[in-house]
Amino acid sequence: MGRAYVYVILGGGVAAGYAALEFSRRGVGHGELCIISEESSVSLFTPITIYYLVERLGSLACGCMRRVIPTYLASTTLRKSRNTTTENPVVPYERPALSKGFLLPEAPTRLPSFHTCVGANEERLTPKWYNEHGIELVLGTRVKSVDVRRKTLLTSLGETISYKYLIIATGARALKLEEFGVSGPDAENVCYLRNVADATRLVEVMQSCPGGNAVIIGGGYIGMECAASMVINKMNVTMVFPEAHCMARLFTRKIANYYEDYYKSKGVKFIKGTVLSSFEKDSDEKVTSVVLRDGTKLLTDMVVVGIGIRPNTSLIEGQLTLEKGGIKVNGLMQSSNSSVYAVGDVATFPVKLFGETRRLEHVDSARKSAKHAVASLMAPNKTWDFDYLPFFYSRVFTLSWQFYGDNVGEVVHYGDFLGSTFGAYWVKNGYLVGSFLEGGTKEEYEAIAKATRLKPRIEDLAELERQGLGFAVSI
Ligand code: FAD
Ligand code: NDP
Repeated sequence: MGRAYVYVILGGGVAAGYAALEFSRRGVGHGELCIISEESSVSLFTPITIYYLVERLGSLACGCMRRVIPTYLASTTLRKSRNTTTENPVVPYERPALSKGFLLPEAPTRLPSFHTCVGANEERLTPKWYNEHGIELVLGTRVKSVDVRRKTLLTSLGETISYKYLIIATGARALKLEEFGVSGPDAENVCYLRNVADATRLVEVMQSCPGGNAVIIGGGYIGMECAASMVINKMNVTMVFPEAHCMARLFTRKIANYYEDYYKSKGVKFIKGTVLSSFEKDSDEKVTSVVLRDGTKLLTDMVVVGIGIRPNTSLIEGQLTLEKGGIKVNGLMQSSNSSVYAVGDVATFPVKLFGETRRLEHVDSARKSAKHAVASLMAPNKTWDFDYLPFFYSRVFTLSWQFYGDNVGEVVHYGDFLGSTFGAYWVKNGYLVGSFLEGGTKEEYEAIAKATRLKPRIEDLAELERQGLGFAVSI
């Protein structure tokens, strides 16, 4: 006999946190909702550890969390990993902080300051919050299998947990170099970045070689944000990626040139159009150089890899319909099994605005899809199909951009590419479908979002270019 809940959230990341807030707002009963997450931070009696101990002991003292504590204690048996570090379970947090404030040399952000839902200026959901709201946490615990027919989950501790409704929020994992045929990248100074344990390790490795050389593999989000943070840490950064310019899936060459020039002015070097072929290591198995496909050898003290992600769908493969690498859901975030919902990075959902399904890998989509799934579950007669406007953003150095919609069709650039405010519109079949803006004000970002949502007809691209940001602002 295991435990039974009305609602179970599988995964304890961004989407899980926002779903929990929505459940509490809609009046979920004490003991009806459980979150199961395998995620842990790595630390050695850091403020995080002390914080958790204080929180937990406090809870114990007031007789609460009767179910959470045994699970917590079982899962926190100080598991030895790398030398003197320990693993501690974490409640959902704002993952974007890991490549930004977490990596800064001065006053870096640390948990609990970036627990969800601080990123949306909502309540901060600490362990105490979950306790007060009667939401059970099964942390530091991996779900090994899911049986959607029987409505049960089996955890790594051998416990069976049953549900009436399941929300899958398992997110994604970082792609590994091995998957691209590069062997031996498990050296201590090769870092990936998906969770707080990875970020802690990245900081430790960086601090072990102050002012040293770092090679970043990948020119996407992780590559760009880590490069900026590492330069601020006074590392000598070289970025290596296969495309002709950075952020190739979103940026035009003109936009990319602006950021690359800015990064170069901060000391970042770019090696484009090639990939890594192997590593050279010393007798301690530390990587000492990165060898590229053309034979170029880059001496390095550390490597950061950001080459994309793969959604965590393995638990339900063969049980639910998949599409575009994710779990296919309808406009209510409901999968091919009506008791199972999927949200965040792992969900492929219909984007009404585009008339097609998409799987998005961004935090705004995780937050809003999670809230929508909970609304669908708890107020089915008052919830309509999710109508989402895709939104991506990044902040590096003193730069900040936002993008709304889709980057397809013809592109019209506007603004001052030698200054600090510029942007682009994408126009498809005569309608505005996407908008990008660097250096905007809050009102200007709201204006491009609104314009993209309205999908206005564009008769004259030259006129759109002439009006530039003014076009969106005047709508
Ligand atoms: P996640 O947040 O990844 O959470 C998934 C959770 O499920 C994890 O806790 C995981 O441990 C758990 N889990 C998985 N499998 C199991 C299992 N079998 N058993 C138990 N638990 C399991 N997006 C932006 O829009 N802007 C940004 O600036 C930005 N910055 C980012 C910076 C970094 C470093 C990273 C890695 C991502 C960033 N993103 C950003 C992307 C954004 O964080 C994700 O889109 C978002 O976290 C997705 O939320 P999610 O809940 O679907 O998945
Ligand atoms: P991205 O998909 O953004 O970028 C991966 C990059 O690596 C691409 O340039 C890709 O090229 C390149 N690449 C792929 N394979 C190789 C290879 N073998 N060698 C070298 N380069 C390679 O993924 P990231 O890893 O940067 O980000 C991971 C996740 O984190 C994403 O979901 C992202 O959305 C999220 N994130 C979002 C942020 C934000 O929104 N601000 C910030 C940080 C992370 P190609 O395109 O040719 O495959």
